[in-house]
Amino acid sequence: MNTNLTLKEWGRTCHAIAKEKGFWDKERNVGEALMLIVTELAEAMEAHRKRDDANFREELADTFIRLFDLCEGLGVDVQSEIIKKSEANKSRPYRHGKVC
Ligand SMILES: [Mg+2]
Repeated sequence: MNTNLTLKEWGRTCHAIAKEKGFWDKERNVGEALMLIVTELAEAMEAHRKRDDANFREELADTFIRLFDLCEGLGVDVQSEIIKKSEANKSRPYRHGKVC
C-alpha cells in the first residue's frame, strides 16, 4: 500500500476498501455513519483510560478511516475543506474570542 498519499487519495482508498467489504451496498444512513465515527473516538477514549497506547492509536486510525470513507462516499473534498477552514481559523481571535 502506498503510504505517501494526499488526504483525497486516502479518501479514495478508505472508500474503495469499505465498498469492497460491502458497507456501501445500499444507501448509507449518514447519521449512523457519523455516530460510528463518534464510536471510534469513544473507543479511543476507553483505550486512553486503560493506558493502552497501541489500541489508542489504532482507534484514532479507525476514526480517520471511517471519516475519509464517509467524505469520499458523500463527495466531500475534505482536503479542500480543511484548507478553507484552517485559513478561516487563522483570522479568528485568540481562543476564538471566548474567555474560558
Ligand atoms: Mg475501532
